[in-house]
Amino acid sequence: MSHLAAMQPELIPATSAPVEDCCYCWYVLHPCMPFPESWTSTICTDHSAWLLAQLARRREQRLREQVIAA
Ligand SMILES: [Zn+2]
Repeated sequence: MSHLAAMQPELIPATSAPVEDCCYCWYVLHPCMPFPESWTSTICTDHSAWLLAQLARRREQRLREQVIAA
């Protein structure tokens, strides 16, 4: 559940078709309520694409920092 602890709801983009059992859509739909712990969290297609894009961006940024530091 570490990915939940690191979540910053204000950075999560809304999608055109929110899925309630996607933990990211949940935060968009219910910003004040924690995702129900008894639920198995899934990630909808839109948010998995968003996550992948974020990871790619972070990796790119790290590479750029390494080039600057070298
Ligand atoms: Zn979602």
